[in-house]
Amino acid sequence: MNMCGDSGWVLSVPVVLTGAVCIGVLLLARWVNRQRYFPGRESFIVLHLASLWWMIAASLEMSTQGASCKVFWATMAWPGILSVPTFWAVFLWQYVNSVRQPLPLSSTLGLTVVPLLIWLMALSNPWHGLFYGAGTAPLSDAPGSPIRYQHGPLFYAAAVYVYLFMAFCMGVVLRAALVSYGVHRRHYLAFVFVTAVPWVANISYVVFGWMLFGFDPTPFSFTFTLLAFAWLIVGVRLFDLLPVARHLLLEALLDPVLVVDPQLRVIEANPAALKLSGLRSGWQGRTLGDWPVFGGDLSALLANQARVEQDQLLTLTSSARYFEVRIRAIERITRTGTTVLGQMLYLRDVTQRHLSELKLAEALAVSEERLRTISSLHEQLQEQALCDPLTGLFNRRYLDEFFGRELARAQREHSPIALALIDLDHFKRLNDEHGHLAGDDVLKGVAQLLLMNLRSSDAVFRIGGEEFLLILPGADASEACNRLELICSRLAATPVITRSGEQRVTLSAGLAFWPRQGQVLDELLQVADAALYEAKRSGRNRVFAQLNEA
Ligand code: GH3
Ligand code: MG
Ligand code: MG
Repeated sequence: MNMCGDSGWVLSVPVVLTGAVCIGVLLLARWVNRQRYFPGRESFIVLHLASLWWMIAASLEMSTQGASCKVFWATMAWPGILSVPTFWAVFLWQYVNSVRQPLPLSSTLGLTVVPLLIWLMALSNPWHGLFYGAGTAPLSDAPGSPIRYQHGPLFYAAAVYVYLFMAFCMGVVLRAALVSYGVHRRHYLAFVFVTAVPWVANISYVVFGWMLFGFDPTPFSFTFTLLAFAWLIVGVRLFDLLPVARHLLLEALLDPVLVVDPQLRVIEANPAALKLSGLRSGWQGRTLGDWPVFGGDLSALLANQARVEQDQLLTLTSSARYFEVRIRAIERITRTGTTVLGQMLYLRDVTQRHLSELKLAEALAVSEERLRTISSLHEQLQEQALCDPLTGLFNRRYLDEFFGRELARAQREHSPIALALIDLDHFKRLNDEHGHLAGDDVLKGVAQLLLMNLRSSDAVFRIGGEEFLLILPGADASEACNRLELICSRLAATPVITRSGEQRVTLSAGLAFWPRQGQVLDELLQVADAALYEAKRSGRNRVFAQLNEA
């Protein structure tokens, strides 16, 4: 090892090539370091620094001339050789799963333990010879001739360790490529390819002893890796701003978004959708109907979609939430027509709004119900205020309003109005003989009789204890007299049924006529009262009108 310093150095083409790749790797690492949204960025940089280490050690091995010196640099390459697949695996896992948090320091240190141990074993080879066997020697006697290594059991143990990681890498990207679609699948296939090339180079060296420039071809394959990444970044615009920005938008969106293919398999879901469903991994390619929480409802909605155009309200009963679902077809327009590639489902959480609407509708219904109750109470009150509770006839309070209205109409139409003031005869006596309640029954019976003898334009009021007022719009004196005579005779002829048996009652009535005998209600009532007095005085059970005054 200590002979390296004076063994002499030669700058060959492979060394220059490796140096150029080293510079390229540095530039790539620098570019990646500046990318903010690059899943697995730290592992990507570490893996490239490890490949840089490997390539520098390989360059030094190639350019140094002494055989033992070459073996020394070969052992020095081991931290790089082992770290490349280790961190390549970490990077791919983080990239495929969109993990942006760097690997914790403890895990990173843990992953360097085995590489360091293997490195120590390689460095201590002169003492145990288990890494490179005694047959390790230059290919020829020429100065600077490459070394043919005789691999010992520890070397193969290190190779197994490396291949385990490589197999893991392949597994991760192949699985990702299989379950993804479109541009994602192409990206992952590119990764499969980039991963496979150094692997093939390494296997061909370890298993078949194939060499390039008399050397392990793996570090040279990094030239390809570098070019492939450069092409992916510049040519295919991998990690480009636009897809990254769109991806970020989806990630940051608080509303769930899903993309399904024509077979209704979910091929994309943002974190909000995953959170709502409770799924963490293994969801890509899963049928929408099998998604927890909203899968069944959404599938049903999509099945009916042909009939429904506008936004749909989706109720998730299991989580008491309401979503407005917007469905957009993802189409590719070709010369022959439109191909539906899938559908994007956007679920907007409208739980708060919907609940407010429901509460509002409920409050509105309660108010309407209250309004209805109030209106009906109001009507009842009005009726009670205007009607007499015993007979159901209008009372005095309604008289002014009714007469005012009829008077206006009569003035307009030049038609007469007749008023009849009615008082039952000897009612006091009836009360005294049969009781107040029987008297009440008589009042009710008389009210019925009066109502039965009314026309639709007429009205009857109970204006006192056993006093009634009849208003007959349009009736002239003779018509009014005739109708009152009829009522009077009918009452006299018809016994009234009371709780104390049938009672015979008679009435006396006094008439007044508008406009002949008075212009206002009070005047007319006075005339009617005077006529009633006359009817009583001249023997009761009769109708009286002061007709000769006209
Ligand atoms: P007249 O023929 O002169 O009219 O004799 P009358 O006994 O009917 O005398 P008046 O009209 O002055 O008597 C009214 C009586 O009516 C007095 C009262 O006992 C009775 N009365 C008044 N209001 C009611 C009532 O609501 N129910 C009953 N049962 N009786 C009443
Ligand atoms: Mg009276
Ligand atoms: Mg009376």
